[in-house]
Amino acid sequence: MNEIRCDPLTGFRVLIAEGRGARPCDFTISHQIESRQRCPFCFGNENDTPNEVLRLPASHDPEKWQTRIVSNKYPALAPLGRTLPPGNPSVGPLSLPHETIPPQAAEGIHEVIIESPDHCIRTTDLMVDHLAAVLQIVRKRIEQIKQIPELKSVQVFKNVGPTGGATIEHAHSQLIALPLVPPTIEREAVVADSHFEHTGSCVLCDLWSNESSHRQRLVDENSGFGAFCAYAGRQPGETWIVPKKHQRDFTAIDDTDCHLLAEILHSVLQQIDQTFNVPAYNYMLLTAPLDGNSAAHYHWRWVIVPRITIRAGFEWGTGCFINPVSPERAAEAMRRRLPIDDIAVEQDRERDIA
Ligand SMILES: [Zn+2]
Ligand SMILES: [Zn+2]
Repeated sequence: MNEIRCDPLTGFRVLIAEGRGARPCDFTISHQIESRQRCPFCFGNENDTPNEVLRLPASHDPEKWQTRIVSNKYPALAPLGRTLPPGNPSVGPLSLPHETIPPQAAEGIHEVIIESPDHCIRTTDLMVDHLAAVLQIVRKRIEQIKQIPELKSVQVFKNVGPTGGATIEHAHSQLIALPLVPPTIEREAVVADSHFEHTGSCVLCDLWSNESSHRQRLVDENSGFGAFCAYAGRQPGETWIVPKKHQRDFTAIDDTDCHLLAEILHSVLQQIDQTFNVPAYNYMLLTAPLDGNSAAHYHWRWVIVPRITIRAGFEWGTGCFINPVSPERAAEAMRRRLPIDDIAVEQDRERDIA
């Protein structure tokens, strides 16, 4: 069964994808990463992955590759046009009196971006030029996906470390294109439109302008991008990287921007490693819906979430997160490339003196 259901009370969408259940799953929490004799993502083992979608040849040898995008062997979504329309569930949203969204076939694209032919583990092991090339191939793939009218949104994400949901250690990220706009993007687009209506400007441009002038949460910046700890970060060190010029969707970036983004992404990931002792993490590209008309005032961003605390009962029950490290303290530690505990000690000392 591959089906997308909408919770009638919260509006959250859930992908029911039973086909993934029998495998070590990228979306479940495991406690260790399988150590394999033969890594399917390493150079020479190309036959261990499903069909290749895009390939960036290595600059020194066109027979070799630098980055490959391949179909996910265990996709969360069925290929387009391959599933039967979902039936009405016996107990489900349709039995409720108010307007609800019927289940939908979970069809789309689920691919793996293999970032390097070598068995490197952390993205920070890659050179900045290499990471820029990865971003360029991702942009190219999203441009292709934009031409498929059934697909409404795309997300690129990375899981690193067991608590980040990774099961294969070789540096890779994933891309999922959905036949719907997920609630997060939908809600953000409404906020962006409403902010524009009231102020005539973009909410994320205004937010960046505020963060860059106050600087308490600033982590890093270069000529194209700013990085800051999110004001209401859900995890210690949650960092947003935003393009300084207004861009609705990720495909608007040019090659120079890709290089600047690679530079700051590389630096922020290193800062997170230094401050939080090489944690598991996730990163996500949040970008506007694929059709060019909706969400006119959306502004894309890159979100990095170190996985320091566990989502437990309170978080499941309320949807609220408890973050034990203020974004201001996290940003200070990251700016100074110090362990987070060092900042706590300094603040305590200042308080004692006071
Ligand atoms: Zn490998
Ligand atoms: Zn903007």
